[in-house]
Amino acid sequence: MKKLAILGSTGSIGQSTLSIVEQFPERYSVASLAAGRNLDEAYAQALRWRPKLVSLATEELAAELSAKLKQSGVTGVEAVYGTEGTVACATLPEADFVVSAIVGVAGLEATHAAILAGKPIGLANKECMVAAGEILTAAARQRNIPILPIDSEHNAVHQCLRVGAHSEVKTIWLTASGGPFRKLPLDQFATITPEQALKHPTWVMGRRITIDSATMLNKGLEVIEAYRLFDVTAAQVRVTVHPQSTVHSLVEYVDGSILAQISVTDMRLPILYALAWPERPRSTLTFDLAALSHLDFEPPDLERFPCLRLAFEAAEKGGAHCIALNAADEVAVEAFLERRIPFMGIPRTIERVLAATPEAHPATIAEVLAADLEARQRSRALLA
Ligand code: MG
Repeated sequence: MKKLAILGSTGSIGQSTLSIVEQFPERYSVASLAAGRNLDEAYAQALRWRPKLVSLATEELAAELSAKLKQSGVTGVEAVYGTEGTVACATLPEADFVVSAIVGVAGLEATHAAILAGKPIGLANKECMVAAGEILTAAARQRNIPILPIDSEHNAVHQCLRVGAHSEVKTIWLTASGGPFRKLPLDQFATITPEQALKHPTWVMGRRITIDSATMLNKGLEVIEAYRLFDVTAAQVRVTVHPQSTVHSLVEYVDGSILAQISVTDMRLPILYALAWPERPRSTLTFDLAALSHLDFEPPDLERFPCLRLAFEAAEKGGAHCIALNAADEVAVEAFLERRIPFMGIPRTIERVLAATPEAHPATIAEVLAADLEARQRSRALLA
């Protein structure tokens, strides 16, 4: 029985993880939940799963949860809060696997603490890898702790990498759906509205990641995530546009063989893979190969998607540039959704912030968080 700490339990990955626990009660149980601000959902999850620890964003929310649990006669569930609370969930001695699914750099400290505490990680939070991948992977390697990617592309790469030796890997190919504007004429990019950008053809996701898919910045973050996670150079990670999103990613070996992973477009499969690794439990997530008529692959258009070019450049520099790429994008996407800047203002903002970022390689989580804050302030000042 694996006892899980789920960081980001009320988000979509957190809820999908709990649905896997529901399906495999003989394999998984819940030790702790970090739930953020959604008190009602946290209460419902605490009632259903009876974890030892639940963390909420603030002291007030934690007190409310305690009161509600007491009213319902529930004992043995402790409510904690803030970053300290999330870290407590991640390092709970009873937990033997941590699902890191808090969006943004908010999950960074807890993910790092979990690795230091020797817990295997299921990683759904790509910002952690983009901001502090060098630190996290070094800590995990030192302790021989597996980091199992839950991001669908990286999960596919992880599966394809099991076939050959690390030294035999030539290129990691990340597939990209290309988003809703893959075929939009370039002169129409200036007038893209938030409503248009929020419609994603194949995946239903949160608002920032949906915009990031439309600009392809999301794929850029994934390039950075990939070279760190799999210990290759940034130049060894390439992107191919594959509109069907059926092949989740590929690995090309030095002998010329290319291995691809195909499965249903459902996040529960990468979650199950990460939780069960190195085993493969029987599941109902089958893919109908007969319904598949064709697979298209084409190179990404860096003129249409300058965010991807900027990400490749940041990936080469590493350190502070990767942190600034992520922070500037988050600030710029927010400004776009509030209609303060146009769609192409997102890459323009990122480009200017990157140009103003001095080359640096933060060595601790505190330095990473400071660089992140600095990049956000720089982005906000630029947009003011
Ligand atoms: Mg992805």
